[in-house]
Amino acid sequence: MTSPQWTNWAGNQRAVAREVAEAGSAERVAEIVGRVRESGGTLKAIGSGHSFTGAARTDGVRLAPASGRYAVDREAKRVTVPAGMPLHELNRVLAAVDLALPNLGDIDRQTIAGAISTGTHGTGAKLGGLATFVAGLTLVTGTGEVLHASPTENPDVFEAARLGVGAVGVLTELELSCVDSFPLRADERPMPLDTVLSTVDELAAANDHFEFYWFPYTELTSVKRNNRLGPDEAPHPLPKWRQVLDDELLSNTAFSVLCKLVRRAPALAPRVNGLSARALSARSYADRSDRVFCTPRRVRFVEMEYSIPREALTEAFAGLRRAVETCGVRIAFPVEVRVAAADDVWLSTAHGRDAAYLAVHQYVGMAYEPYFRAVEAVMRGLDGRPHWGKLHWRDADSLRASYPRFDDFVAVRDRLDPDRVFANDYTRRVFGD
Ligand SMILES: Cc1cc2nc3c(=O)[nH]c(=O)nc-3n(C[C@H](O)[C@H](O)[C@H](O)COP(=O)(O)OP(=O)(O)OC[C@H]3O[C@@H](n4cnc5c(N)ncnc54)[C@H](O)[C@@H]3O)c2cc1C
Repeated sequence: MTSPQWTNWAGNQRAVAREVAEAGSAERVAEIVGRVRESGGTLKAIGSGHSFTGAARTDGVRLAPASGRYAVDREAKRVTVPAGMPLHELNRVLAAVDLALPNLGDIDRQTIAGAISTGTHGTGAKLGGLATFVAGLTLVTGTGEVLHASPTENPDVFEAARLGVGAVGVLTELELSCVDSFPLRADERPMPLDTVLSTVDELAAANDHFEFYWFPYTELTSVKRNNRLGPDEAPHPLPKWRQVLDDELLSNTAFSVLCKLVRRAPALAPRVNGLSARALSARSYADRSDRVFCTPRRVRFVEMEYSIPREALTEAFAGLRRAVETCGVRIAFPVEVRVAAADDVWLSTAHGRDAAYLAVHQYVGMAYEPYFRAVEAVMRGLDGRPHWGKLHWRDADSLRASYPRFDDFVAVRDRLDPDRVFANDYTRRVFGD
């Protein structure tokens, strides 16, 4: 963390910082921000580097996440945590007091500040992304002011900062609304693509958390359905050997070998994808929610993910399939499809509409741009919104048209960071200079 050299998880973003500092208290951050502003420099708070975009890149001052004290209000089901706390630590803290976040994404390595700042989400037709769980926040602005914000205190700051791509300030503390801890029953099984597509609305409506993976060039999918256990049902976690076999050997070690094979011989992609799909056999188990939501991801990839209005899913998927066939590159990774409920977060990819998400991936070191760009063209035609932390080629002008509150966000940014202390190439591209 103290080296000026920085690279993100996927290895596709690199930067060398002029100075590295640790975040810490709001007062300490305010002092650092004030110094940087006076010198005309820039500063970026970073999380754990899991964004594929250059959202966290800086050649100015890099502010690394710091640990700190947290507080739990069990009765109100609220926690106040340092913004740089990693999700896996947050999950442990919550489980110890029988609380949990209502939903999570695929992994737990991100910091909570990093996750909300780019609109990280899981899946669930009735649930919003992680930013919708934020009840209050403490922010150091570009003028060095320390602000507390919530739906009733500085509400416009709250809206901009709970999903702000690091562009309006440094989050130092977050207050999160939680729920009583809950075990989930996971059901994962192969299903033919046409069955999934013809029943996708029912599957999304009938399950607390529904998603599917499609293996390009095949008619095969793997469907995941996670549902809360009934009061009389007892958790039955996977035996350790099965967990190691599925999550480490098949999903990581063996998958990595197959990806390397496709990287060397791209023409093998269709056969290898068929093999990957068949290797994932059906399984059912029940465990603590965060252990079901999050699994280890050791095979490195790059990713683009688009949100589209839920009713456009079938059309979007058909366009995506055409892009896979015609883009000219071979794809080693499955496509992930998820859903989320409409929310009111200004820059949320689900702002004002129920959303479906289509995520495309490519193994590191393989060509991805023609594939991602072809998929982006399809999603743009359906009023798609790209994930702020995943690759895309949109700029401020085109994003403005997709977000009704875009100019409100820009106005808060102008007020809180008039000298653009928090700017980098990415924020200049997506929000303007
Ligand atoms: C393997 C893998 C799996 C993933 N799974 C999912 C998934 O299931 N769902 C999903 O939606 N996304 C997913 N993502 C994307 C990931 O959740 C986001 O990119 C997230 O932003 C990463 O968090 P981070 O802590 O690494 O933040 P970073 O990438 O380090 O930073 C992201 C942004 O947050 C800002 N930021 C960080 N800390 C602060 C702070 N204290 N104050 C203000 N701004 C701050 C940074 O400046 C930057 O703009 C995945 C990524 C990977 C690599």
